[in-house]
Amino acid sequence: MASNENMVVVGAGLVGSLWALMLARRGCSVDVYERRPDPRKGGVVGGRSINLALSDRGWRALERAGIADAVREIAMPIEGRLMHAVDGDLTFQPYGLEGAAGVFPGDPQCIYSISRANLNKLLVEAAEGHDQVKVHFGMRCVDADLRRGDAPVPLQFEDAQGGRHDVLADRVFGTDGAFSAIRDRMMRLDRFDFEQRYLGHGYREVEMRPGADGGFRMREDCLHIWPRGQFMLMALPNPDKTFTCTLFAPYEQLDAIEDPAAARSYFEKHFPDVMPLLPNFDADWLRHPTSSLVMTRCAPWNIGGRVALMGDAAHAIVPFYGQGMNSGMEDCSVLDELMTTHGEDWAAMLAAYTTMRKPAGDAILELALRNYIEMRDKTGDERFLLQKRIEAGLAKRFPGRWLPLYSQVTFSHTPYHEALAAGKRQDEIMARVMDRPDISEVWDSEDVAAEAMRMLESSDF
Ligand code: FAD
Repeated sequence: MASNENMVVVGAGLVGSLWALMLARRGCSVDVYERRPDPRKGGVVGGRSINLALSDRGWRALERAGIADAVREIAMPIEGRLMHAVDGDLTFQPYGLEGAAGVFPGDPQCIYSISRANLNKLLVEAAEGHDQVKVHFGMRCVDADLRRGDAPVPLQFEDAQGGRHDVLADRVFGTDGAFSAIRDRMMRLDRFDFEQRYLGHGYREVEMRPGADGGFRMREDCLHIWPRGQFMLMALPNPDKTFTCTLFAPYEQLDAIEDPAAARSYFEKHFPDVMPLLPNFDADWLRHPTSSLVMTRCAPWNIGGRVALMGDAAHAIVPFYGQGMNSGMEDCSVLDELMTTHGEDWAAMLAAYTTMRKPAGDAILELALRNYIEMRDKTGDERFLLQKRIEAGLAKRFPGRWLPLYSQVTFSHTPYHEALAAGKRQDEIMARVMDRPDISEVWDSEDVAAEAMRMLESSDF
């Protein structure tokens, strides 16, 4: 689709820079405005999590943009969760199904750890490398007049010196994150719904440096979890042999940890096996502040054929399914696909985008909230682990018929709302299966498997 229209993308984060590249590959001319300075000139990208889990939905979008192989070069495969009990006991739970192929030849079915800063740099470079894209750094969107029906949209940007710049856009894509300025202007329009909530829990990051030999201090092919009921510690490796450890806990509990000494005794009490691996704990604890977790929902995600919200601007979620960025990248895949089917009919295209993506955005928020409880509370529970083993057995015996919820969310492209509905049905079936008094003896039997499949095929569930 070659077009003379002036496409404006507001926000060159993970989603905005990817979307700009996709638009350019379709022949559009794109201007991207980003409030931060150029990340390649030494600035830190984003104030949030240092590393991210990238999975199939993200990879599909990167593939569509022609940059999956370049991203794979800076990503680390993570094959499963390793749960650390208080007494030091370790339990490994693979993410992928046994024998299932991964996204890349030779890789198992897995997720990938990637540095937010490096990924953002790569995406910005790939976008700017396209001669149809111009990225304007240090330009904060401060106004957008969205009340002009189907006319081009006047936008205003402020540079670092306070200078104002007017831009007239044929199409505007708000990819400016959870506190989106574009969404803020949409809220002034009639019948635009918006909801924002903070999770009662926050997080704080601590870096685990490499060991004396320069290597990783723990297994680097795992996401480590210390589940402790109301709170948990998580650690994800980085290519520089560090781990980013993130403590998620009730906000008041985090706030009450006044200094590094208090933090140290908290860690010694709840995560004793990790403390010997954090010799610089006091200094490292002070390097990052306590941060909060915001969730937003809004509707619609478009205004006619002129404006669309994508990524966190449309759906900010909590990070417990590792799907915030992945779902934002999936927004890009869906809209890119809609460009194929709708041609230049932007009004129909953006209306279809909202219709397809809004239920998915709501569902991934619900899934992420549910997964927090699972990660912090249940991954240390024997019965829960037994249930997961039974489900993995069903998936192996009946491939394509029983797909665990985690696999549907992480390794498939099933819309999130369909995955959520299927997961709720599986939960009901598994509750019946787990109710058998002899389940711990017969969990791997033909009988249990047949009973679960009978329920799956029955219309009563
Ligand atoms: P952002 O990354 O927030 O980018 C928005 C961009 O817009 C920024 O560059 C910003 O500077 C710019 N901007 C903002 N306002 C303006 C303005 N007025 N004018 C111009 N530019 C503006 N997701 C995963 O998929 N996997 C994970 O493992 C994962 N872990 C996470 C862990 C934590 C602790 C948190 C908080 C989030 C995590 N996420 C994860 C979610 C992920 O970070 C977000 O979903 C993702 O960053 C969204 O990308 P985005 O481009 O929509 O928004």
